[in-house]
Amino acid sequence: MTDLLLNHLGGRWVAGSSKGSTLVDPVLGSDLVRVDCTGLDLAAGFGFARDEGGAALRALTYRERAELLSAVAGVLQANRDAYYQIACANSGTVKNDSAVDIEGAIYTLSTYAKFGASLGDRRALPDGDAQRLGKDASFQVRHVQVPSRGLALFINAFNFPAWGLWEKAAPALLSGVPVVLKPATATAWLAQRMVKDVIDAGVLPAGALSILCGSPAGLLDALQPVDVVSFTGSAETAARIRAHDAVTRRSVRLNVEADSLNSAVLLPGEAAGTPAFDLLVKEVVREMTAKSGQKCTAIRRVFVPVDLFDAAAQALAARLAGVTVGNPRNESVRMGALASRAQLDSLLDGLGLLRQQAELLHDGAAHRLVDADPAVACCVGPTLLGCRDGDGADRVHDIEVFGPVATLVPYRDVGHAVSMVRRGQGSLVASLYGSDPSALATLSIELADSHGRVHVVSPEVAASHTGHGNVMPQSLHGGPGRAGGGEELGGLRALNFYHRRAAIQAGTAVLDGLAL
Ligand code: NAP
Repeated sequence: MTDLLLNHLGGRWVAGSSKGSTLVDPVLGSDLVRVDCTGLDLAAGFGFARDEGGAALRALTYRERAELLSAVAGVLQANRDAYYQIACANSGTVKNDSAVDIEGAIYTLSTYAKFGASLGDRRALPDGDAQRLGKDASFQVRHVQVPSRGLALFINAFNFPAWGLWEKAAPALLSGVPVVLKPATATAWLAQRMVKDVIDAGVLPAGALSILCGSPAGLLDALQPVDVVSFTGSAETAARIRAHDAVTRRSVRLNVEADSLNSAVLLPGEAAGTPAFDLLVKEVVREMTAKSGQKCTAIRRVFVPVDLFDAAAQALAARLAGVTVGNPRNESVRMGALASRAQLDSLLDGLGLLRQQAELLHDGAAHRLVDADPAVACCVGPTLLGCRDGDGADRVHDIEVFGPVATLVPYRDVGHAVSMVRRGQGSLVASLYGSDPSALATLSIELADSHGRVHVVSPEVAASHTGHGNVMPQSLHGGPGRAGGGEELGGLRALNFYHRRAAIQAGTAVLDGLAL
């Protein structure tokens, strides 16, 4: 039988009491490890995190907690080779795609260590200047931000087991809030191994970091009003969490990152073969194929002027045809597997629904798998669909196929493009491609209300832009409406979620003594 991964709760490693779930290699179909968290005393474990981990973190200053983040990043760097092996086996990703997750995690931690160092040796943060409450300055109000005294529970998606943990844990730990992670079961191994390495290295106070592997019963029941939950996953699970008593009755603060039908838009006036056109083609193919399209930020809909539909279809299909798909252990393979059989089935279902309203411009099924058995491996080639009537096709704007699938849609004018982009009902990111700075700026503002991020690619940033789908710690991540309404990252803005804001009303001498 495969090894059982342990949970870390209450400051110690503990096994669940049943057989658990087996994690599977999505390329070879072989069993890897098991996870289980049945029968754990969540209330006691969460209490330990709040009382021991939280207290120890809050006793430190922001600068000292920033040093903890640097130490965590150092531990991960020292063990990174093992992470690549686990990612390849459990997520089926090629090295470049594993790097997005693993190096992205380390970079985000290191960046938050720098942000935190700039906050210095204090334990509370100012929020604006003092304002008079009366005619003179003798009695004023000052707003402060202080660390929440609860824990931060992260319920994460399967697609970023490493980055998904540390992009949330970095601002939480920097804020002085202990972390309890519940990774998605299918790919929990990498997150568990990282947590194990950090715990074993002894760089964090006891109780500052816990992990529950598997699907713990009563997870949300163990939360108290001081806690916060950050959820990443499907809109359906988000709806269930939103309806739980912890949120509706105990006012546990909740952040949701959910589905998103992200867009790429080529502005009018860019002929086929111009730099902006070529940049769109390159970026769409990269986004469709990176991590086999299993990125919440991946481009799902591509909008081009109607007279460029055929040229764009040809250019995209030609590039997609060169993508090698299969076993990530083979160095000629550029795109590995989907994370699980469930994801492959879900992709095929979604593709079937989209195909009823869209034509096939490039068929992923035509890709021969390299070093992988099609009957076993959860591998699928990239598929480009085309939908010439974007107004009449509701599914293109509504069904998120979480894999290497995108749909090309023509538009008549910018207003028409905007109206179809908005049918995504709120998305994480839109990218714009063009060479007219004024038109790009105008469209950026136009789309800002319905997106957490607008990524603008013009020829002069061809070599320096960070990529449509890459989430940088300096920039906001999250999106309104269907995307969940959450906010993560965005530099020090991320700390807001882990702090409580309060107004202190007092005389000048007291306000001067707040040590902000
Ligand atoms: P999911 O099925 O909703 O699962 C997400 C997490 O929720 C997993 O850890 C899962 O645990 C847990 N969970 C499931 N039911 C639960 C319940 N009743 N109570 C508490 N936790 C529960 O989503 P997924 O399939 O892992 O992720 C794919 C989706 O995530 C995609 O739709 C994608 O759009 C979205 N996503 C969004 C972002 C973003 O930043 N906006 C990023 C990545 C992914 P188990 O695994 O143990 O079931």
